[in-house]
Amino acid sequence: MARLVLDQVQKSFQGEKVINSLSLNIEAGAFVALLGPSGCGKSTILRMLAGFENVSAGEIRHGDQCLSNVEVHVSTEARPFGMVFQSYALWPHMTVEENIGYPLKVQKINNKERVKRIAEALDIVQLNDYAKRLPAQLSGGQRQRVALARSLVTEPDVILFDEPLANLDKHLRSSMEETFRAFHQRTGATMVYVTHDQAEAMSLADQVAVLKQGELVQWGTPQEIYNNPKTAWLANFIGRGS
Ligand code: ADP
Ligand code: MG
Repeated sequence: MARLVLDQVQKSFQGEKVINSLSLNIEAGAFVALLGPSGCGKSTILRMLAGFENVSAGEIRHGDQCLSNVEVHVSTEARPFGMVFQSYALWPHMTVEENIGYPLKVQKINNKERVKRIAEALDIVQLNDYAKRLPAQLSGGQRQRVALARSLVTEPDVILFDEPLANLDKHLRSSMEETFRAFHQRTGATMVYVTHDQAEAMSLADQVAVLKQGELVQWGTPQEIYNNPKTAWLANFIGRGS
């Protein structure tokens, strides 16, 4: 387990800057939310952390290792990270246990170890009775739990989430928040959680980075941000505007 650092990271697309010198220190094992309105650059940050995008300037480090700067780019597969997306991205023709075990097959983990890790992962997301089902035979919440289980079988140091609850209805979202908290406790992984929903960020994360147009507006605990928003825009965004 190691600290994840963004050091003056910038990102431009076709000369247009979408992330402007972002620095964040994410402690090992923390649950951090990246919060901001649509288009502010949350997914771009996550994609740079995941290695899907390079950085235009600055550096991303994990412990002592440089993952990305203008010269270095560690590939997605070589980063000890798991990922969960809004769209679940499950294989439709594979059962729940086959989906969960797939990353272990890719890593050529032996059968016995694979069976053990799949069972543990099913237990963490409480889908033990659903191992033989296909994704089409599951509810949206259950599918997202399969995606959660799949993100942890490789025992990653860091798990990246891009709006994982955005496809679920309001009622299900609040019950899934419980699942995420338990998931964080059970895995001990560092979690970086992207959302545009301030209530979700505030209730889930230990620390929140609020972003607006590629700039960090504020970084702190949910209490600090809620009690002392630094700008009128942020006060308004979290529903504390006058
Ligand atoms: P968010 O996830 O907060 O909604 P994004 O990170 O998806 O925001 O996008 C931030 C900005 O970067 C947007 O203006 C978007 O249009 C732009 N952008 C994202 N990806 C690309 C890309 N591959 N090419 C060009 N512009 C992009
Ligand atoms: Mg996004």
